Amino acid sequence: MIETSIDEGTETMRASPMIQRTMALLLLLLGAVLAPAAAAGTAPKGDWLLLPERVWTAEGDAAHTGWAVLVHEGVIAAVGPRASIEAPAGAQRIELPGATLTPGLIDLHAHLFLHPYNETLWNDQVLTEPQDYRTLLAAKHARDTLLAGFTTLRDLGTEGAGYADVSVQRAIDEGLIPGPRLFVATRAIVATASYGPGPRGFRPDLELPGGAQEVSGVDQAMAAVREQAARGADWIKLYGDYRVGPGGATAPTFTPAELKALVDTAHQLGRPVAVHAASDAGVRLAAEAGADSIEHGYGASAATFQLLKQKGIAYEPTLTAVEATEQYFHHYVPGRDPPTPRMQEAAHAFRTALKLGVTIGNGSDVGVFAHGENWREPAAMVAAGMTPAQALHAATDVAAKILRQQAAFGRIAPGLRADLAAFAGDPGTQIGDLAHPVFVMKDGSVYRRP
Ligand SMILES: [Zn+2]
Repeated sequence: MIETSIDEGTETMRASPMIQRTMALLLLLLGAVLAPAAAAGTAPKGDWLLLPERVWTAEGDAAHTGWAVLVHEGVIAAVGPRASIEAPAGAQRIELPGATLTPGLIDLHAHLFLHPYNETLWNDQVLTEPQDYRTLLAAKHARDTLLAGFTTLRDLGTEGAGYADVSVQRAIDEGLIPGPRLFVATRAIVATASYGPGPRGFRPDLELPGGAQEVSGVDQAMAAVREQAARGADWIKLYGDYRVGPGGATAPTFTPAELKALVDTAHQLGRPVAVHAASDAGVRLAAEAGADSIEHGYGASAATFQLLKQKGIAYEPTLTAVEATEQYFHHYVPGRDPPTPRMQEAAHAFRTALKLGVTIGNGSDVGVFAHGENWREPAAMVAAGMTPAQALHAATDVAAKILRQQAAFGRIAPGLRADLAAFAGDPGTQIGDLAHPVFVMKDGSVYRRP
C-alpha cells in the first residue's frame, strides 16, 4: 500500500532482489515494445533537474516563471528559481520549454473497471464481460490515466469485478504495470435490491451478478465493511441513495441505523467512507451518519451543503459524468446545445457548495467517459464557476488532504514524493491546457517525456 512505501522512505519496491531483477528485465522488454511516450517507468531513479517554463507548486495560486525542480531518489529535493538550485553532477536534465510543471494530478472518483457507456452499456459490462477481461482492461486504463498526468486515483468500486482492484493496485506498486497510485474501495456496499443490474426490468427468476455487495440490517452491514477492509479496501464506498423510489425515483437506500453501523465500523478499522448520494435526503443522511466524502450531490440544498461545511465533509461534484450521460442518452451535443436540466442541476449544486466554502475535491466518475480524459472534470469545474487555480488545487493539494496524504504528495515541496506532471501552456490560467501533458513522473520514475 502507498502509506507503507512512504514510511519506508525511498524504498518503494517490496519485492526480493531476484524479483526486482526479473521485473527490471520485463520493463526493459516492455520499453522495447511500447512507444517512447508510453514507456513503463523505464527511467531509473536518481537525480533529475526539471526545467519547465513555469512551476505551479499548489502553494498559493500563481505559477513561478523560471523556476526549476530537483528530484533525488523519488523525493522532491528542491524547488525555486533556477539560479538558486544546485544540481549534483550527473543529474539528468529535462527541458520543458513552454510547459508548466504541476504536482501530479489526483482524481478522487474513478472506475478503472468501467469503460464509456456509449461503447457498452453499464448493464452489459457487468453482465457479459468476464472479470479477467475487465482486469486487463483496467490495466490499460491505469496506463492511460498515468500518461495523462494523473499520478493518483481513488477508485470507487469495481462494479461487479470483485476484489480485482486490489490486484491492479498491487501490480502497479510492484512495477509490473504502469499506473497511478491507487486507493481502492473493492466491491462497494449497497442495500439489498437497490443497485444494478436489475432487479427492476429483469425477469424475477434470473440470478443476476451484483454491481456491488448487498446488505440488509446492521449485522450484515458491519460484516460487509469488515470483509472488504480485510481484503484490501482503503476506502469504504456506499450507495446512500439510488433509483429505488416509486417509478425509479432516486430515494435513500439504507436506514439511518444501517448507515451509522457502516460508517462506524469503517472508521473503527481506519477506513474513511465515500457515499454516493444524489438527492438532498441522501446527502443529508450520509452527512449525519459521519461520511467523509459525498459523491455527486446533484440535488443537495444550500442547508445540506452547510452541514457538509460544518462537519468538514468533502464533496466530489462529478460534473463530467452528467455531461457524458446526457451526450450518450439525451442527444446533448457539447458546444452546440445549452446545458440540459440535469447539467444545470449539477452546476447549481456545485456553485452552491463553492459559495459556501465546502471542501471540493476533483472527482470525475471517469469510466463513464474515457480514461485519460480526466482533465475534463477540472475544465468542467472552471466552466461552472471555479478559477483555474481553484480547480488545480481541487486536483492536487486539496485532493491529497481528502485522501489524508498531504504529508506525502499533492504539492511541489521539498520532502514530498516526486509525483509531477507538465502540460504544454499554462493551466493555471487556461485550464484546458491540462489536455496536453508532455511530462509525467511518479515517485521519481519518468513515464512520459518530450
Ligand atoms: Zn462512480
